[in-house]
Amino acid sequence: MEFDKLVDVYEELEKTASGNQMREILSDFFKKVPKEDIALVSYLTLGQIASEYESAVLGLAEKTVLKAISSAGGVSLKKVQEIMQKTGDVGLTAEKVLQKKPQTLIPLGKLTIQCLYDILHKIVTLSGTGSQDKKTQLLVSALQKASPQGAKYLTRIVLGTLRMGAGDMTVIDSLAIAFTGDKKNKEHLERAYNICPDVGVIAETLATHGLKGLEKIQVRVGRPIKMMLAQRVKEWEEVVKKIPGTLAAEGKYDGERVQAHKTTEGKVILFSRRLENITDQFPDLVEYMQKQINAKEFIIEAEILAIDKEGKHLPFQTLMQRRRKHDIEEYIKKIPVQAKVFEILYLNGKSFLNEPYKKRIDHIEKIVHKGKHCTTADRIITDNITKLKTFFGEMLEDKQEGIMIKSLEGTYQAGTRGWNWIKWKKDYSQDMIDTFDLVIIGAFYGRGKRHGTYGAFLCAVYNAKEDTFETVCKLGTGLTDDMLASLPIKLDAYKVKMKPGRVVAKKEMEADVWFTPQIVVEVLAAEITKSPFHTCASGLALRFPRFVRLRDDKKAEQATTSEEVQDMFEK
Ligand code: AMP
Repeated sequence: MEFDKLVDVYEELEKTASGNQMREILSDFFKKVPKEDIALVSYLTLGQIASEYESAVLGLAEKTVLKAISSAGGVSLKKVQEIMQKTGDVGLTAEKVLQKKPQTLIPLGKLTIQCLYDILHKIVTLSGTGSQDKKTQLLVSALQKASPQGAKYLTRIVLGTLRMGAGDMTVIDSLAIAFTGDKKNKEHLERAYNICPDVGVIAETLATHGLKGLEKIQVRVGRPIKMMLAQRVKEWEEVVKKIPGTLAAEGKYDGERVQAHKTTEGKVILFSRRLENITDQFPDLVEYMQKQINAKEFIIEAEILAIDKEGKHLPFQTLMQRRRKHDIEEYIKKIPVQAKVFEILYLNGKSFLNEPYKKRIDHIEKIVHKGKHCTTADRIITDNITKLKTFFGEMLEDKQEGIMIKSLEGTYQAGTRGWNWIKWKKDYSQDMIDTFDLVIIGAFYGRGKRHGTYGAFLCAVYNAKEDTFETVCKLGTGLTDDMLASLPIKLDAYKVKMKPGRVVAKKEMEADVWFTPQIVVEVLAAEITKSPFHTCASGLALRFPRFVRLRDDKKAEQATTSEEVQDMFEK
């Protein structure tokens, strides 16, 4: 299939301000895509060339892309840079420069999706000395074949700035409509996606083997599983109602969740909560797991915590310093870590997703050889609420965030916020109701002291049923000067000209600047009230929201949902 067919779709999506319309455009298009191209087309719709967990990094800087445009267009780099200054966008620069491409002796033919795939994946594999030149040449070869519009989107894909506003769920919905004729079937696709969060695999399986094929998708070591989430309750009594009888309670540690996969070859791969490959950040943890987890092949989950010399847990902010690409060895010594293992999803060729938690606990305790850097979560098994409360007190004394209460009969519900896990945090025992993870989708210019920067941010929750983002508050309090300076820079990469298609906002909340839903922040709020200005659950808002911290570990779709806010409001 020609890349230009996808380019037409990009053009249409760019003009769309509605999620439903996006799904219509995409499903109409998916019907026409040949089976062999459907996986790549699904990734490209999201501006990716592979699933996120595969970390297919192209590693091209803007300067290199401008050089490639200059070379493909037969125009001096100086001229290209001038156009770039005027347009402020690499895509528009490429489109303009490549309007008049130099003729080649042999016609190059049109850029196909397959050819683009081959070129981009070749770029990914190149590294080391001389690789930048080779990468540039490969990009030039793609640009020479692309149409001017094609070059506009191609350069944006390469730089990771293609923002069509579609998310994984938009693609999943559209695939369901395209290949089964009924949006209701998205449930089947979601089930498969939860154990195989790879839109390419889902698309290809559906296109070639239909819904039956999706049922056969299995857990695979090396491919992350969408993580299970916890519900929250307002009162202790509710815990007992939701999980009657004997239950497990564990410390709720305030660190970073990790899903570790060990292959039969002994390789350990670490995935973050966003399902990104974070193995390179924690070579120390890889070693501890290889030594202390006694199994040939596994998928386990743990909370990573920063520790001091005595093994005491340090705050989340300290751990965040380990999120780095450089000086890793130095920081391993500076900020040692500990993994508190609390889940097992796969062991020596067998999936444990459908096994009850009590059985999973047995296996965790059997295979983890506890030590300072790799151990299991503190846990009690009880049917006594007084013991539960005492354990909660002990965890708070130990400076933990609270406790996780788990059903012993519960299975691992991948990607689901079910009642098998209930979180009970220290905030619940205070007046503040809770923290919320919100997505920044817009900003308002500041006045007075905040003149020249943003005064407040428009925040949204995720509506998982509709795959939309609904506004819930304006956030201006609690931001330190440092955060006020760094957040706009971070957000700059996600600026878009108009309200993104999946954002639902009232005209009273027309932001000065819009952002594609990407950046998640944790916000403490004192109350949930009805509001005619916000769209969360048809009109709910957070009162007195206060910024707590950035949640780089969460994707926009992992933010608090409108359903959760509604539940809390009703309670
Ligand atoms: P929250 O992010 O507030 O929804 O809480 C769920 C998160 O708590 C999980 O994603 C884990 O990162 C973290 N967590 C800490 N301790 C545990 C535990 N013992 N079991 C499960 N999750 C835990």
